[in-house]
Amino acid sequence: MERYNPAHMKLNRSFSVIAILAVALSAWRHIEAQAPQPNGGGVRSGVLPRSWEISGPQCGSEPRFQIHEYNPDFYILRESGCSNYEKPFLYLLFGKEKALLLDTGAGRTDVARVVKSQIDQWLKRNNRDSIPLIVAHTHSHGDHISGDKDLKLLPQTVVVEPKVSAVQAFFGFRNWPSEAATCDLGERILDVIPIPGHEAASIAIYDRQTGILFTGDTLYPGRLYVQDAGAFALSIQRLVDFTHGKIVAHVLGNHIEQTRTAYLDYPIRTVYQPDEHQLELGRAHLLELNEALHDLNGRIERTAFRDFTIWPE
Ligand SMILES: [Zn+2]
Ligand SMILES: [Zn+2]
Repeated sequence: MERYNPAHMKLNRSFSVIAILAVALSAWRHIEAQAPQPNGGGVRSGVLPRSWEISGPQCGSEPRFQIHEYNPDFYILRESGCSNYEKPFLYLLFGKEKALLLDTGAGRTDVARVVKSQIDQWLKRNNRDSIPLIVAHTHSHGDHISGDKDLKLLPQTVVVEPKVSAVQAFFGFRNWPSEAATCDLGERILDVIPIPGHEAASIAIYDRQTGILFTGDTLYPGRLYVQDAGAFALSIQRLVDFTHGKIVAHVLGNHIEQTRTAYLDYPIRTVYQPDEHQLELGRAHLLELNEALHDLNGRIERTAFRDFTIWPE
């Protein structure tokens, strides 16, 4: 049995106080790290589907687009594989003053009718008569611009030509591709970031309201075709820098070619994808891609990762 020693007691007590302070301090630091982002990061929330409708294996008269409401001001349209094997995603965002459609799909579809009916529904819900529509593109490849001609016929609609000069002029870029521009839809600011590499007119869009980063064909669960290696590497670094310290709720690209099995993709032109990867990626994928490009050091070789593959064009 230890003899009672008042000096010991005092020492023990001050150790306890230090220990409590240390625990409190570490807890506070932990809380501090979380403090600016309570309740889902402080961005407007929404829900993505657990999986998308499967096209095929037999194609019939299914609708050409699946429409998913992420939240009442953001809709995702996914083109059916029975319409076009590319199965691209299109994004429709509403601000207080304008709406934006990002991409118009592949092949001949009824995209203008589908978009118009979605806008009409939104107007009804919001007790409004009209809202101007901007149609822009993640890039100029044919599987993202096919509906342009029909969309141009919609009222109050401006279609940004899928060319570098037209994109620069419309968004007011001063230093392409090193500087971002903004586009205000009315209490909804979008950052538009030039990301040439997959294609010369490629842009990414960051929606400050939802914290979603739209990356087009530059980053998605599938084959990342690189046309210009130097430009691509700089663009990915630019996206990493841009998103540093920002909330990134999801990284949404334009296709799904990856299966749910790590490292395994569906062959090109696959319509029926019963076990496809989820659409959404995160900023970690961006960091992984950036690191890989640094390692490749200017060369582009076919390199597989768990959720995407770098693919020279
Ligand atoms: Zn493309
Ligand atoms: Zn594409």
